[in-house]
Amino acid sequence: MLLEGKIAIVTGAASARGIGRATAKAFAEQGAHVAILDLDLEAARQAATELGEGHLGLAANVADEAQVRDAVAQVLARYGRIDVLVNNAGITQPVKTLEITGKDYDRILDVNLRGTLLMSQAVIPTMREQKSGSIICMSSVSAQRGGGIFGGPHYSAAKAGVLGLCKAMAREFGADNIRVNAITPGLIQTDITGGLMHDERRHAIIEGIPLGRLGEARDVAHAALFLASDLSSYLTGVTLDVNGGMLI
Ligand code: NAD
Repeated sequence: MLLEGKIAIVTGAASARGIGRATAKAFAEQGAHVAILDLDLEAARQAATELGEGHLGLAANVADEAQVRDAVAQVLARYGRIDVLVNNAGITQPVKTLEITGKDYDRILDVNLRGTLLMSQAVIPTMREQKSGSIICMSSVSAQRGGGIFGGPHYSAAKAGVLGLCKAMAREFGADNIRVNAITPGLIQTDITGGLMHDERRHAIIEGIPLGRLGEARDVAHAALFLASDLSSYLTGVTLDVNGGMLI
């Protein structure tokens, strides 16, 4: 088992078809105890129960410092350590530059970027004491190609910010044996993308993907599993493009 006895937090993991849920499942199948953190407590608990015994469902808004600290304290109270954090919670909004209001900007940056910072700040002291940890940040192909698939320019900016933050943390905490890596998913079939596309658009996008299909949540989950496990023990500050070849 790749994560036997490891303690992992996956944010935004309650959504049934989402990348976070698939990641939590892949981790649990490899022996990890998973804390599923999401906005709704019942949904998070339900998702944890569906993983089997030994998992935890927690409610927190990743953009709220007090809620984040409280949730991480609950994980420590239950398990006593934290080996893996997946910063997966994210939201998007399909608008163009001139339509973005200040409120939209704050909302998108808060969840995607501030949330990644706050969650990382909350677990790093523990990982430092342990002298080990793996943090995985969910960015997006939108950060690399300037959007154009789904999500507005503020989403692209937030996800590009996640890449910069991730590399900076990788550099800062390498000496503590904390690895920080990012994943840039292409177009993955989940709730976030489901409502954003009509068939013609979907077809045009698939034509531009060398592997000839949209991604599945488990395609991303398996990359997260690799980054969480010791199989990637000499990787830090890298970005894995899980996009079917979209950027070749
Ligand atoms: P999803 O909408 O299925 O799941 C996102 C989850 O995050 C939901 O469970 C939601 O409740 C939770 N969430 C939202 N705001 C939150 C907050 N403030 N605090 C805590 N939880 C919150 O989305 P998904 O498609 O599974 O996306 C997961 C991640 O991958 C996101 O960061 C997204 O930006 C990124 N991503 C997705 C795609 C794609 O094609 N689906 C592509 C690139 C990147």
